[in-house]
Amino acid sequence: AGLSARTRELVERRRRVLGPAYHLMYETPLELVRGEGVHVYDADGARYLDMYNNVASVGHCHPRVVEAVTRQMSLINTHTRYLHDAVIGYAEDLVGTFPDELDTAMFTCTGSEANDLALRIARHATGRQGIIVTESAYHGGTVDMAACSPSMGPTSVRDAPWLRTVPAPDTYRVEGDLGTWFAEHVQTQIDDLAASGIGIAALLIDSIFVSDGILPEPTPFLKPAADLVHAAGGLLIADEVQPGFGRLGASMWGFERHGLMPDIVTMGKPMGNGMPIAGLVMQSSLAEQFGRDLRYFNTFGGNPVTIAAAQAVLDVIRDEDLVANSAAMGGRMLAGLREIAHNADAIGDVRGAGLFVGVEFVGSSGEPDPDTAIRVVNDMRNHGVLISATGLYGNTLKIRPPLSIGSADIDYFLEQFQSVVA
Ligand code: PMP
Repeated sequence: AGLSARTRELVERRRRVLGPAYHLMYETPLELVRGEGVHVYDADGARYLDMYNNVASVGHCHPRVVEAVTRQMSLINTHTRYLHDAVIGYAEDLVGTFPDELDTAMFTCTGSEANDLALRIARHATGRQGIIVTESAYHGGTVDMAACSPSMGPTSVRDAPWLRTVPAPDTYRVEGDLGTWFAEHVQTQIDDLAASGIGIAALLIDSIFVSDGILPEPTPFLKPAADLVHAAGGLLIADEVQPGFGRLGASMWGFERHGLMPDIVTMGKPMGNGMPIAGLVMQSSLAEQFGRDLRYFNTFGGNPVTIAAAQAVLDVIRDEDLVANSAAMGGRMLAGLREIAHNADAIGDVRGAGLFVGVEFVGSSGEPDPDTAIRVVNDMRNHGVLISATGLYGNTLKIRPPLSIGSADIDYFLEQFQSVVA
């Protein structure tokens, strides 16, 4: 209903040839053909403010990324079994953004592969299999990562006897000290894994809990749980696929807000501004132990072309001061949203860190209201602003524009949001 003939045709052909597993965003699906900075354009030339795309994190089609990829693509593209100065140089540059202990990098093409490899490394190091994740986590699409992604369907625990889940540290709903509360849940599952004879290999955690509903505060609530995992001989894997590369404003990496030291950090999405590069940074002792006993090869992972993109992204983040911009623009957005929420009963909570912001919709007695969230997402799309919704209940707006956004676009977003929720 209400779709143009072209949209309806594409939707039908897509459904026929790609099947039903892939979802489309928005009641009126978008056909995007071009992007520039914080804007994307559809096939009819209509412009949208992209408040959602954390992959094109330094801005759509950033000229420095486009130029770096084009230049390298016309020189050579090979794999990591040849020497390449730029690949080594990027790895050195990347580990330089981490605390000294995290000094070794490995490259993959996707965040799923990075998490999957992190699991193998953690299991090899600990000699145990057990993994703990939050109950609405998303960590990827390989067989093991699908099991670690209860947000994608209820198969995880059935398929993976080594998996345990804990409720997410929900800043809005949990009363009392969040760090203690979360640590107690983690300890219960550590004990359960031990009692089952499986034992804990790792706590795998998204440092901003995106699919659990975006849970940023109050830091350092992750620290007590991390300490318990380490005390039990398990490793801490920080999944920075979403929060990494400056999005949270305070620093390059989300875990740093919690004052803790992961054993392995995984990353992806914004790493190449859309080129398929992802990876891990870990303590060298883990990489040494793994590499002594096992080998790893990834045909496309960390090739010179995707590395050229990744190097350009790191350079742009620094040269355009995007971490500071994320903090400043995120603060502006949070303040504006809180003002709007003040007069909107349907908004129960506004929370965020840098340019990762969640707005939670609730009913009159505080119960989750996903219908309103979905209505707002679709209305915003019809107002030319792209966002989505997330969380255990699907009632939290997910707002994460490119880190390069300026105050005029933040204010435009707030105006549109005001008119949609009013
Ligand atoms: N971890 C998190 C937190 C993610 O959000 C995602 C992707 N949505 C992944 C891992 C998997 O990344 P990819 O899609 O690149 O495999």
